[in-house]
Amino acid sequence: MRVGLDRMRFMWKASAVVAVIAAWSLVAAAQEIRQVSLVITNGIVVTVDGGNRIIAPGAVAIDGTDIVAVDTADNVRREFRGRQTIDATGEVVMPGLVNTHTHAPMVLYRGLADDLALDEWLTKYIFPAEAKTVSPEFVRAGTKLAALEMIQSGTTTYADMYYFEEEIAKETKAAGLRGVLGQTVIQFPVADAKTPADGLARAEKFIQAFKNDPLITPAVAPHAIYTNDSATLKAAREMSVRYGVPTLIHVAETQSEAMTAKERGSPTVVSYLDALGFLGPGVLAAHAIWVNESDMALLKSRGVGVSHNPESNMKLASGIAPVKAYLAQNVAIGLGTDGAASNNDLDMFGAMRAASFLQKVATSDPTAVSARAAVQMATIGGARALGMDKQIGSLEPGKRADVIVVSMNAPRQTPMYDPLSHLVYVTRGDDVQTTIVNGKVLMRDRKVLTLDSAAVLRDAKRWAATVSAAVGR
Ligand SMILES: [Zn+2]
Repeated sequence: MRVGLDRMRFMWKASAVVAVIAAWSLVAAAQEIRQVSLVITNGIVVTVDGGNRIIAPGAVAIDGTDIVAVDTADNVRREFRGRQTIDATGEVVMPGLVNTHTHAPMVLYRGLADDLALDEWLTKYIFPAEAKTVSPEFVRAGTKLAALEMIQSGTTTYADMYYFEEEIAKETKAAGLRGVLGQTVIQFPVADAKTPADGLARAEKFIQAFKNDPLITPAVAPHAIYTNDSATLKAAREMSVRYGVPTLIHVAETQSEAMTAKERGSPTVVSYLDALGFLGPGVLAAHAIWVNESDMALLKSRGVGVSHNPESNMKLASGIAPVKAYLAQNVAIGLGTDGAASNNDLDMFGAMRAASFLQKVATSDPTAVSARAAVQMATIGGARALGMDKQIGSLEPGKRADVIVVSMNAPRQTPMYDPLSHLVYVTRGDDVQTTIVNGKVLMRDRKVLTLDSAAVLRDAKRWAATVSAAVGR
């Protein structure tokens, strides 16, 4: 009897303790629901993380500028409450696209001169048009139009090479986009510099002004080896190393570019740049089409990023970059559109599709660039090529919140068995519903919040009249 009573007392005490613990953990759980700035929920979350996880229904929690959670919708609901919530039912939630090569203001030359080879296109049409029309005002109007197009088609980071890059930087920031912006350095007189020394001085001033900006990474952009002598190329590279900023350059875009390298004593463009001491981490080589095995090994061993621009390369008949080989050698390779004068748009979904199709036909191998590989190149691959893969390129806690929401409800997207297949083979930039950069919503349900779309289009049309008058077309 005595023993029984003791046991009863013990059990009563024990169950009281259990009840207290349970109540305490309930309170704790309630307290642990963290309020964050934004939750995107119920979507098909394509993370492009190390495990290529796709979570459906999944959610992404964002606080301030950062991603704080990527998980199932249920788990995120238990832990986070957003001051703002976006319901992405039936839609893909993915990292914003990274356009690794463009010349944003050239959207104002869209369709001005088509169906030409690079050399003729550049020297007969583009350089003369630029000489007559490029100004700070032109560059601002062009950047706004480019930013509008990029936000509407899901690009959240872009790498640029142009003139008056500080004006491009101001408009990029105002639009809310992330930019790796390279001030052009070129041997002949251009709108913003009479000499390459002027161009370098502009680049230095630009770097100093934007060095620690949260959205803008300033860079130096020596145009190419055929438009710069070796002294200018060296000086440009030294400046970017000195300031720890990227170097953006066109590399081996055409077969004839190798002539310049040969005249300067090297068999290829890549070997020439390496002999100059130009190649190293932070260099982004746009195109890199005409390369041999040892060039590719050099690019890899020096830590150079490559930007593949399939649509521009096809349109100018420049050639086909050996993307399958780059991927096999684990070279950091991303996708780009190039300027809209040679593409003729900034739609990275088009770039993904073209990259995949072009490589399949070029190698007679349908697996050469799979849908997954194309999505990776357009996101984490581009981030790697730009040296930004710790900050952007995938949906992972701790990274900046650069996120897009893509509709999957069009007839051409129905039915859907595999979201990666749809993103590359049937989706268009117009399917992007919401674009977020650094935690800020730039477009919601197709409405761009940071630009006055009508005014931007009106302004661009006004500039087109000036361009037409200048080039007599
Ligand atoms: Zn280019």
